[in-house]
Amino acid sequence: MLKIVLATSNEHKIREINTVSIPFGIEFVLPDEGFNPIEDGSTFEENSYAKALAAAQCEKSGRNYFMADDSGLCVDFLNGAPGLKSARYAPCTQERIEKLLCALKDARENERSARFICSLVLIDKTGSILNKTTGICKGKIGHTQCGKGGFGYDPVFIVDGKNKTMAELDENEKNLVSHRGRALMDMLMWIKCSDL
Ligand code: IMP
Repeated sequence: MLKIVLATSNEHKIREINTVSIPFGIEFVLPDEGFNPIEDGSTFEENSYAKALAAAQCEKSGRNYFMADDSGLCVDFLNGAPGLKSARYAPCTQERIEKLLCALKDARENERSARFICSLVLIDKTGSILNKTTGICKGKIGHTQCGKGGFGYDPVFIVDGKNKTMAELDENEKNLVSHRGRALMDMLMWIKCSDL
């Protein structure tokens, strides 16, 4: 099994990603202690690279490859907000969701369109970029929270073509349509065709 450090402290993300990657012979593991990235880039890709580099810099276990994901929710009515600030839009998940629903209270039904975006960057221990991929999942913001799965904004994000929120999909269904699942599939294909 090829082990790649995933530059995150979100165990939910690791589990979601490993559900897809383990059948490909690739397991993602948490970074070593001291992982503390600064996300001050102006794009998802810049932040993703900064996280991957931070994981490489605190590596003590001899692992060679580091992948980071940076993702967020972009709402058209809010000119792309919360976007890069999705994780910091409000202090906790419940407050973030409530703030988002409140910001959309004057939006008409056809003005609630949104997309999740995910940028994945894979680097080696010297910081050189080996590959990068992007995934997008289109949908709209509902009026109430539905579903218990997933994390973050999932309970209010109604996936295009599904008539369900992301939180109402099981992990396998989410991986097939999600921004992270799409970016990950492209990355896994690349890794399988590489010499890693
Ligand atoms: P980061 O990529 O870990 O910096 O997180 C970005 C933020 O975007 C998360 O804290 C969530 O609020 C949101 N987000 C990213 N991906 C998802 C997802 O799949 N579902 C729900 N929220 C997400």
